[in-house]
Amino acid sequence: MTHPSNMKYKIPVAEPLLGQEELELVADCVRSGWISSKGEYIGRFEEEFARCCGCKYGVAVHNGTVALHLALVALGVGPGDEVIVPDLTFIATANAVIYTGAKPVYVDVHPRYWCMDPEKVEERITDRTKAIIPVHLYGHPCDMDAIRDVAEDHGLYVVEDAAEAHGAEYKGRKVGSLSDVACFSFYGNKIITTGEGGMCVTDNEELAEKMRLLRNHGMDPNRRYWHIMVGFNYRMTNIQAAIGLAQLRKLDKFIEVKRRNARLYSSLLEDVEGIVLPPEEPWAKSVYWLYSILIEDDFGMSRDELMRFLEERGVETRPFFNPIHIMPPYRTGESFPITERLARTGINLPSSVKLTEEEIEYVANLIREAGKR
Ligand SMILES: *Cc1c(COP(=O)(O)O)cnc(C)c1O
Repeated sequence: MTHPSNMKYKIPVAEPLLGQEELELVADCVRSGWISSKGEYIGRFEEEFARCCGCKYGVAVHNGTVALHLALVALGVGPGDEVIVPDLTFIATANAVIYTGAKPVYVDVHPRYWCMDPEKVEERITDRTKAIIPVHLYGHPCDMDAIRDVAEDHGLYVVEDAAEAHGAEYKGRKVGSLSDVACFSFYGNKIITTGEGGMCVTDNEELAEKMRLLRNHGMDPNRRYWHIMVGFNYRMTNIQAAIGLAQLRKLDKFIEVKRRNARLYSSLLEDVEGIVLPPEEPWAKSVYWLYSILIEDDFGMSRDELMRFLEERGVETRPFFNPIHIMPPYRTGESFPITERLARTGINLPSSVKLTEEEIEYVANLIREAGKR
């Protein structure tokens, strides 16, 4: 197989897989006229997605960022509060906290599995701390028992940021069911997609009701244009939900493919010097949203050189997220050494469910070749 260098990104990091099922349900929305935020697919998607997470209630919203914001507001997080988030995550986790008026407090990640380190959470707690947001990074779950123990000891809420981990498991239980409320994203590169989209899932009926109210301008469901709190328009459209419903039916298959692709990558890369393969703790079932490796000093070239080397050969990669605490609007002057090292050495390799075995072999062989230079 040849990948001429003038073809930019023949192999992308992530690509949605959409088909006839999505097309048919969307066509039904268009034909029926139910294209806005009323219509049968929204309730069905909420119900089926919540069930698939092992939760009672789902509240669909228009992206994962507002799902986090909605959950925090519904829990009463606001000005004067502090919320503990991992330093290594997508920026939306911290932004959602800032939107409420609360302050994000950063914590380092675990050196082995790259998610929030429960042992470091405790030392960040003050009498202003209200909640903890563990993030299941790149598809690997957090150590939720340990995080919940700390939260219980101090009377804090736990909000899972599960935007990258649909279907991942912790000790045999699905992520999304391991906290007060969990937030998912259905952005185009996520494990399943609705274009833009998100959902909050919970077992707490009162909280679900409050999120529904806030999602729809705080309008009393029994009295039109009577607003009992200051809410938002965070509604999902019927078209998004229709796509989501079709995607949801493929989730198990997608996860199977992602896990198989991860095994293939790992078997092809395990003997390459200077590479750290992605973790999977004994208590975890990762969904490998993005198959990720670390490029250490004894590899043949630097992480950034390897990214360029792959790009010139038609392979798109992504660097890990930057540590939040070093970026201008968030700067704290602190130091989180594990996050800093991972951010410097980590890359995400092509991980879409559309990848062929040959493409994975092509990428892995290029990395082996690069390591020998
Ligand atoms: C994608 C993502 C989000 C935000 O989701 P959007 O739908 O893009 O708003 C939040 N947190 C994490 C960890 C993410 O990866």
